Amino acid sequence: MGLVIAEDLWQPLPEWARNKYEIVYDPRLYADRDRLQTVAKSAKALIVRNKTLVDRELLEQLPELRVIGRLGVGLDNIDLETCRERKVKVVAARGCNANAVAEYVIAAMFHTVRPLNQYDKSVRNGAWDRFQCMGGELHGRTLGLIGVGDIGQRVAFRTRSLGIRVIAHDPYVLASNMVVQDFGVHLLPLEEVCRLSDFLSVHVPLTSATRHLIGERELSIMKDTAVLINTSRGGILDESALFKSLKQSPRRYAVLDVREKEPPDAKDSLQELPNVLLTPHIAGITHESSERVVELVLGDIDRVLSG
Ligand code: NAD
Repeated sequence: MGLVIAEDLWQPLPEWARNKYEIVYDPRLYADRDRLQTVAKSAKALIVRNKTLVDRELLEQLPELRVIGRLGVGLDNIDLETCRERKVKVVAARGCNANAVAEYVIAAMFHTVRPLNQYDKSVRNGAWDRFQCMGGELHGRTLGLIGVGDIGQRVAFRTRSLGIRVIAHDPYVLASNMVVQDFGVHLLPLEEVCRLSDFLSVHVPLTSATRHLIGERELSIMKDTAVLINTSRGGILDESALFKSLKQSPRRYAVLDVREKEPPDAKDSLQELPNVLLTPHIAGITHESSERVVELVLGDIDRVLSG
């Protein structure tokens, strides 16, 4: 039975899977649609990250396909409706990288108030300027979460002990929700969260309803010193509106792990700005999470194919 892996596992292929299945593993396969269609023609399972576009056109070329494994959680590159129609199951690595993303968000928050690497650089350059290296504290600040699902909740839980006030917007979460109550998260309308937050961290899936959820209007009401952290999907944020906002308000700051276009163009205007920190979509990737993701997705695929 054939398994096709079209993107990088970032882990060795588990021995049990190699012994049980005939596997084609080509981390660059996603980039060549024609070859992907040919190679996966008789595959029972297709394993992808976020680069493979699994649309109707591709799915119609894969008549034997029974399951798609997503090495991550965002499903915006997979046509779920066509999968339902064709009875193709989709399994994702739910929960496997949420901890990594939550820790990234906390690290980003600490970094913006006390950028230790910059202090280190100044010492190495011969300075010993304690005043210049004076940073701020997170204690007493307000964190706004857009989306209080798996990752949003973990961020809320971790910030609690830091004395940070947590407010959030999530129309699908009730104020009676145990997590919201236990972590003392105040649910508010989107505008209020944008207006009141010192840090605004985005944790919603990319759908037609959330595309450009944070746009010109939302940015215009944010504090002049606000820090925006986006680890969810680039499309949720209107990047050209963000560029204008950061240019106009140099005390604002953005930490972007995800971009509207990945990788961004060589002439990426956001890279011109000093008040932006950019990482290459790695918030969810740690040694620990990669191991969990591969084990869980391959295990789920095995259950579907054996069941
Ligand atoms: P989740 O499904 O557990 O939670 C998403 C939350 O968003 C839900 O509570 C939902 O009610 C809420 N939501 C939906 N529409 C909303 C809206 N319009 N306004 C406010 N809230 C809304 O998902 P999760 O596991 O927390 O992950 C969130 C996203 O993070 C994923 O969809 C994925 O795109 C992204 N992600 C990125 C990385 C990375 O490496 N950067 C890793 C993992 C996940």
